Amino acid sequence: MSKDTKRGDYKMPLPMKKRRGKPCYFCENHLEDLDYKDLALVQRFQSPRGKILPRRQSNCCAKHQRKVAQAIKRARYMALLPYVVEQ
Ligand SMILES: [Zn+2]
Repeated sequence: MSKDTKRGDYKMPLPMKKRRGKPCYFCENHLEDLDYKDLALVQRFQSPRGKILPRRQSNCCAKHQRKVAQAIKRARYMALLPYVVEQ
């Protein structure tokens, strides 16, 4: 191996950047909990197919993403929301 090998140019993957820009909806509005019966709110975190939006799309923090997922699952069980939307 010669000295001018390209290995030194390899860039280490950057550490996870802190989320900037849009903060978590619930933290922003100082909402601690969400109610699974509040469908207008819960549905904002579902895809058109009825899936739970991933964190990168919902912009929720970990705590509130868990609550959103739990609320959607409860709403599904109570037949307030569909498990899957047929298109
Ligand atoms: Zn939050």
